[in-house]
Amino acid sequence: MTARILDGKATALAVRETVAARVARLVEAGVQPGLTVVLVGEDPASQVYVRNKDRAATQAGFDVHTVRLPASTSQTDLIAEVERLNADESVHGILVQLPLPAGLDADAVVRALDPRKDVDGLHPENVAALVMGTQGLVPCTPAGCIEILDRHGIELEGRHVVVVGRSMLVGKPLAQLALARNATVTICHSRTRDLAGICRQADVLIAAVGRAELVKGDWVREGATVLDVGINRGADGKLVGDVEFEAAMQRAGAITPVPGGIGPMTIAMLLSNTATAAARLGGVPESAEEAAVRR
Ligand code: NDP
Repeated sequence: MTARILDGKATALAVRETVAARVARLVEAGVQPGLTVVLVGEDPASQVYVRNKDRAATQAGFDVHTVRLPASTSQTDLIAEVERLNADESVHGILVQLPLPAGLDADAVVRALDPRKDVDGLHPENVAALVMGTQGLVPCTPAGCIEILDRHGIELEGRHVVVVGRSMLVGKPLAQLALARNATVTICHSRTRDLAGICRQADVLIAAVGRAELVKGDWVREGATVLDVGINRGADGKLVGDVEFEAAMQRAGAITPVPGGIGPMTIAMLLSNTATAAARLGGVPESAEEAAVRR
């Protein structure tokens, strides 16, 4: 068997078109959705991510601003900036690009965000909403994983989802989302025994580890769906995922590539979250069709 490729680029484009239509309707209703990205320091990868987010958000019709602060910014000044954005009615989404330079407390900065504008879904109120199944904003990468499955008709109900990785950014929220879809979920991490054996039981195997090709092709059950969240730079400078792609292709039923898989979906879901935040803050009701790209 050769796996069907789940094309994140094309799927993200479709999501972004839906979001652009939502933005246009919000503007008609008198709300110009605004996104502000806060970038502290000069981390090269963060610069690239921020540029991509800025471009995608501008194309979708958002009013986008990037606040660039030096790496020497103090915790107090960074929190003051977040509070300024919380109070600014033209800003509906605030994204503080992580990681922050050494010496800054990311947790405290996230807690300072107005949870209604926390389009990364990391504020404790949004984490609680996810666990409790109440209204909130969901972290973009996990939301992108669910969205790409939905848009390819891959069901989770009753299936065994194995998530490798338990970060607050990806693994844990993803496991919650799969659980909310009535999947049976196993979460693996660095202390898991017999990782290979557990992966082989997965109907849907999701790797979010950050170790190049940790998940071997023969860990993939015949016909399983594989989502590869990992972004690692190989010795040759090329991007590789957490899954041995070529070998996994021979066994999986469907698989996301790296690059061009979950990465573009993450940006699309950021835009979707920002449109959701703008609609809620602006008091503009959205249709059921629009609600389909938010959870
Ligand atoms: P973290 O480093 O925060 O978490 C990694 C997780 O992997 C941890 O839970 C860790 O376990 C687990 N782990 C590490 N080594 C092993 C191992 N040998 N076996 C099993 N589990 C292991 O990473 P993130 O969740 O933030 O990111 C994961 C990957 O996804 C990275 O490559 C990152 O670049 C990428 N990423 C991609 C995004 C996208 O848009 N596509 C967005 C966000 C992240 P333990 O908890 O025990 O330490």
